[in-house]
Amino acid sequence: MPTQRRLSTVLIILVLFSSLTPLAAWGPHPVITKAALDVLPDAEKWQQALGPENFAKLTAYCWLPDQKGEDMKAYYGDDYLLFRAHPNYTEHVMPMAMNAVGPYFRRALQALRTEDPVNAARQMGPLIHFVEDILAPPHARPYCPHHNDLEYWVDNKKIIIAGYQPLLLGRTDDEALAALQKRLSELVPLSAKRADEALPLVSAPNPDRSKVEPIILESALDAARIAADTIHTVLTLGLAPQPVGAGLKGIVTAPEFPMRNDHGARVILLDSDFGTLANTDAGKSASGAWQGSYEFHNLPAGQYRIMAYRTAARAIISEPVTLKIGETARMDFALLPTEPPGNIIENPDAAIAYLPNNRPDRWRVALAITPTWSSSSADINPKLSYRCGAALKYPNARVTFVFWAEDEKKGGPPIEVKLLEGQLKPEEKIVTPSLGHQLVTVRVETDKPLAETIERVWVIPVTQEAGGQTK
Ligand SMILES: [Zn+2]
Repeated sequence: MPTQRRLSTVLIILVLFSSLTPLAAWGPHPVITKAALDVLPDAEKWQQALGPENFAKLTAYCWLPDQKGEDMKAYYGDDYLLFRAHPNYTEHVMPMAMNAVGPYFRRALQALRTEDPVNAARQMGPLIHFVEDILAPPHARPYCPHHNDLEYWVDNKKIIIAGYQPLLLGRTDDEALAALQKRLSELVPLSAKRADEALPLVSAPNPDRSKVEPIILESALDAARIAADTIHTVLTLGLAPQPVGAGLKGIVTAPEFPMRNDHGARVILLDSDFGTLANTDAGKSASGAWQGSYEFHNLPAGQYRIMAYRTAARAIISEPVTLKIGETARMDFALLPTEPPGNIIENPDAAIAYLPNNRPDRWRVALAITPTWSSSSADINPKLSYRCGAALKYPNARVTFVFWAEDEKKGGPPIEVKLLEGQLKPEEKIVTPSLGHQLVTVRVETDKPLAETIERVWVIPVTQEAGGQTK
């Protein structure tokens, strides 16, 4: 289902200034992806290479672009949506949606060539999503009304392309990407035309859904075929034997990320496009401490500084490491806790600014009268209270903690708690969310850059020691 998060009133103002994506999604993404996977000629080979579980999860990862800024438990949606060549979200409708195809195509190939199968499978998700979205009739036709109906009025059981033979779109990355973009451009007008055909039917009084479904189905089948071409091509090129490159691997240890201790850690080769997630080592994390492993292969030789970061810990940047062809270097990281420990806000001191978009990673700016920064939202347990605090560098800033529900009707209105203004002394308040709340966001109003405004902000669950539940 499409995410409802950006419907929240809390974010309405912010949404106006960030991404005006439609509130709906191509209803049958997983069904379309499954139809594509079912016709792959080398499916067994890919299942072996990626692991059957990762391969099967492509039907879930194709939702990723609808999970902007969301905590997906083991990872954040943004870990795979945003990178140096694609530092900001792209609109999902034409003509803008086509701009995402190139960066996501190349990034998926890079992941298949240089990262572990878990990361590679996740990184294919955004590409698959956009290829499918572009052919959804209300995405193909700009400014299309009845968006939801034109996506969901299709019989999912009929989205089957048995007998279709996926095409290898090219023998090189450039050739394949050009062919994919060309093929999409040829199919978009057909989907736009179907939107125009279906519109009078869905907008009629007492619309007859059975007349609309066959029209939308044609686009869903086109989307499944081109998704199959895309997946077949990306796996063929991405998993082809590569010239010997350099390797890097290691372990990241970190303090507990409260209630999210299965979360991965970002590992980034600074000043390069290479990055990955260290994934949790099952059974290796004891008494709150966390351990995860990461690996890169087929990297270009060279000198790199490596950054490791995980929520509730402080980022570390290594000394320069020299990677040599044919060798795998090892670099372990032991991350220290945030101050105070257990902070569930990502990048809470605005110190990480890896993405080339003039702002700290995981913070968004809303250009209201006073510029307002918004952190990524963090998942909360509404049964707990939270220590919410800030230490500022600039006393005129206004810091607000917003506890909110994805669906305000079910979860209740947001709670907003402001800290005192006009002081540099660290301040903290205890906030108890409503039982229907799931998320917390920190807002900072300031006329200075965020990194010059905050020393740090924090949200920390108050664990109830005496027999209370912390989970
Ligand atoms: Zn979409």
